[in-house]
Amino acid sequence: MIVRLLRKMNVVLFLVLQGSFLLIIAIIASAYNFNWENVFERYQREQLTLNAFKMMDDMRNEHLEVGPYTGDEKLWLNRRATLYGILISYGPPDGGPPWFDMLSRVNEDENIVIQEYPLISKGESQGLLKIGYLKSLNELDPNVVAYRQTMRTRSAWLFALIVLVSVGISYYVSRLLSAHMERLQSTAMKIRQGHWNESAEVKGPEEVRQLALTLNELSRELKKQEDWRHQLMEDLTHELRTPLTSVLSQLEAMIDGIYEVKQEWLEEIYDELIRLSRLMNDMEKLSEAEAARFTVSIKRTNMVQLAERVYRNFQSMARSKGIRLQFSNPNVPCYAEVDRDKMVQIIANIVSNAIKYTNAGGRVILGVGYSEDDTIIFCSDTGIGIGPEDLPYVFNRLYRADKSRSRFSGGVGLGLSIAKALAEAHDGRIEVESELGKGSVFRVIVPNKYRSWEAPYAQDAGRSARAAGG
Ligand code: ADP
Repeated sequence: MIVRLLRKMNVVLFLVLQGSFLLIIAIIASAYNFNWENVFERYQREQLTLNAFKMMDDMRNEHLEVGPYTGDEKLWLNRRATLYGILISYGPPDGGPPWFDMLSRVNEDENIVIQEYPLISKGESQGLLKIGYLKSLNELDPNVVAYRQTMRTRSAWLFALIVLVSVGISYYVSRLLSAHMERLQSTAMKIRQGHWNESAEVKGPEEVRQLALTLNELSRELKKQEDWRHQLMEDLTHELRTPLTSVLSQLEAMIDGIYEVKQEWLEEIYDELIRLSRLMNDMEKLSEAEAARFTVSIKRTNMVQLAERVYRNFQSMARSKGIRLQFSNPNVPCYAEVDRDKMVQIIANIVSNAIKYTNAGGRVILGVGYSEDDTIIFCSDTGIGIGPEDLPYVFNRLYRADKSRSRFSGGVGLGLSIAKALAEAHDGRIEVESELGKGSVFRVIVPNKYRSWEAPYAQDAGRSARAAGG
């Protein structure tokens, strides 16, 4: 039970704070007390000296400077000393056995303050007066004693009040911090229960603010993931249901003898199944591409050579469609740090799209360019273009700008999402500009990650070094 309590942040915080407060209060209180005790003690010593002189004066007046004394004289000395609230012992000046002694009556363990004074009379020391008072008696001056008592009571109250206030402050501060934690904990709990829109209020100390911001970021990210998953399920179900239903009903009709089994119909069913199987393959590729950031195998690559290879591979496809495919060579080698297979996949994707969505007689240009920070592979076409209402979504999964046409062209709407995921795996991005009916330009932009290897050269030197490298 206690161990569990001690694990709570507010309890620990309270104990630490209160402990520190009590320590400080204790130090101040003892310093304060010590000071007062000193003042009183000094006052008492001064009183003692005063009384010693009064006592000696009285003794001189009574001619009692020298002993030994009679019983009456001893009685007189005793009464005087008692009157002044002191204990005395009086003997010869050389310190021999005293003629009169009250001090011997005091127990040894009592705390006694003793002062010594020579009694001077007629210019000579007549005897040695030892004078003392018991610290425990404090009966020197009733006013002082009362004052001291009042001071003690007041100090006790004052310190009790300070302790009380410090308890309040410790409690408040520890509650304040743990309240922030509890607030964030309850938000996190709600997020865990699936309330993705929940967000924590950003307030309190800096660390708590940071935590709240991170929590909100996390909840946004989770919501995005959840939406993504939800959307994926919806897209897939939608994408699978229609062709499957149609294939099933056609097959059923043939089995039931409603339709005769015709070569043409079988081919239709076959095409539909091929499309579904391609969808499955592409889904797999997409999921690989999305995980690619962990599996890229980066190599320094001449991007012009790489793009030219893709260009050559698509030549026959373009020719058969009556499209002119050209390669724009920057005539300087552009090196980038990329995963070659994945980069080929990205370029092949945008080039095949360009050919797919360009009508016969059109033109497609693939090219490579560079800036100080990036290498850019672009592919422009004079194809059907993408309308502004579709443009923001072309990189989304299973999105097809012109459903009937792209379905006909065999696209499942995953190619660009795969390309985008692969570009992101290189810390890069894909951009598109397009005008409906005029054509599109796709740009793959990959940062020159290891440019710093060339850093000893100035900017231009870096460029010429790159140019010379090829
Ligand atoms: P698909 O497999 O359908 O081609 P993509 O993800 O590659 O899927 O492309 C998504 C959509 O973007 C396509 O369906 C098409 O509508 C549009 N699109 C892509 N590239 C081009 C292009 N070069 N010209 C016109 N439209 C394009």
